[in-house]
Amino acid sequence: MAKKYVENININTRLPGFILLLFFISFIFSITAACQPFIGKNSKIPENQSIALLSDAWEDVEKLPEIPQYDIQLEVDFKNAAFKGTAQIDYTNLEEVGLDSLYYRLFPNSGKSYGSGSLEVYSVEVNGQEVQTVLSLDDSVLEVKLSGTLIAGEDIQITISFNGKVPRDFAGDGYGIYNMSNNVLTLAGWFPILAVYDDEGWNLDPARSIGDSVYSDIAYYSVELTAPDNLKAAATGSLVDSRACGDSQICHSFVSGPVRDFVLVLARDFEVISKKLQGTKINAYYLPDHRDAAQNTMNIAINALKTFNNKFGPYPYTELDIVDVPMNGSIGVEFPGIILNSSIIYGDTVFTAHEIAHQWWYNVVGNDVIDDPWLDEALTTYSSIIYFEYNSTGEEYQGIFNYFKREHQNNIKAGGDDLVTYGLDHFEELGAKHYSLIVYIKGALFFHSLREKIGDDAFFEALQDYYQLKKYQIASPEDLLDAFERSSGEQLDDLYQEWLYEKQ
Ligand SMILES: [Zn+2]
Repeated sequence: MAKKYVENININTRLPGFILLLFFISFIFSITAACQPFIGKNSKIPENQSIALLSDAWEDVEKLPEIPQYDIQLEVDFKNAAFKGTAQIDYTNLEEVGLDSLYYRLFPNSGKSYGSGSLEVYSVEVNGQEVQTVLSLDDSVLEVKLSGTLIAGEDIQITISFNGKVPRDFAGDGYGIYNMSNNVLTLAGWFPILAVYDDEGWNLDPARSIGDSVYSDIAYYSVELTAPDNLKAAATGSLVDSRACGDSQICHSFVSGPVRDFVLVLARDFEVISKKLQGTKINAYYLPDHRDAAQNTMNIAINALKTFNNKFGPYPYTELDIVDVPMNGSIGVEFPGIILNSSIIYGDTVFTAHEIAHQWWYNVVGNDVIDDPWLDEALTTYSSIIYFEYNSTGEEYQGIFNYFKREHQNNIKAGGDDLVTYGLDHFEELGAKHYSLIVYIKGALFFHSLREKIGDDAFFEALQDYYQLKKYQIASPEDLLDAFERSSGEQLDDLYQEWLYEKQ
């Protein structure tokens, strides 16, 4: 659903040991803190959704308010790289104000990372009545006008029928997140997704050339997929059942649990290695001849899940898919419960560990990527360093760490230092390389410096506290920074000032 989720910067630096570190950028969407006032009665977990959740996670999820629930019927015409669908969305107004319209995003119409495909809406009903709609921003924004004001706490049902055309072989220079290549159909952004309402109103940002301008709330998804029966499907969430349904067709039912998006990939030639760890089934989907890479992917995923579960808090879902897909100009893209890794880097430790860490710092804990892109990217990058710390030789870990320090020092010497905490608009002007050096590298070094100051116990206690407190919500920088001050009992303003709010 991002316009530009991932951009790679190939930094061909030979690290001590054997890793060729291809540093990369992945851009995340999220929503702002103000958009989720917890009002009204708490919901129970909807029927079937608990399948996607580990039982230990149920207690937290039961406390969520009435988050949106998407029930989507999707029929894929694989031969023609097209699809049609109907989304029925149960929506409760969780804002503190009445709403006269709802806004949905049709991201494939933005071009950019989606390439030259499209997503067309041809019917919208609210509570069974057709309503007026208005398209804007290159048809990437759909306004659904309500017949009256939807007051706070009130719920409605929106039904949207749509169809989509998927570009082939990265036509329009897409990244491959909405694409058909080599009999692999990758579907991100394939359904109308609710925009976010927050203290600034509806977030309807145009596509950007850097980072991501997509916001979305946590929601439940139930997806009924109909597709040719010679295809295998990897998707967000868990498979409830599969059955034959019509002429050479198969129907799959998926549920997601509370997540920020729903992505699926269909392929003729997928093979899969699966393994269960601490209740979560990890699936490494791979294309022919990539079995060794899939085995590497599985080993990394097992170690990453163990490390992050232990250091940050438990991954709440019953499934995690890491999928080998054809991509173009991007090499790793995180989505809820499913990671798309380009065949080029499939099985690479740096990318796989980074994308897995995003499951904690993007999907479960969200943040405002327009104003605070560092909040997930810097923490995710540092999390991948933590992965190396606990799962590699000291030499390998030190090599990566030294590489980060060297890049940062060279950047300072070249006069390129900048504020980690700038928003995406600032970095868009200065380019992807600058963004990488400041938000990813300097941002990760900030977390290391903080850890050195307050010690391991306080550092990880703060991350666990932050994860638990902001789970399924949107975190602000203060939420994270305050957690470190609480756990350490120290005033950290000077360190924050030095690393986050001024140039070095
Ligand atoms: Zn990332």
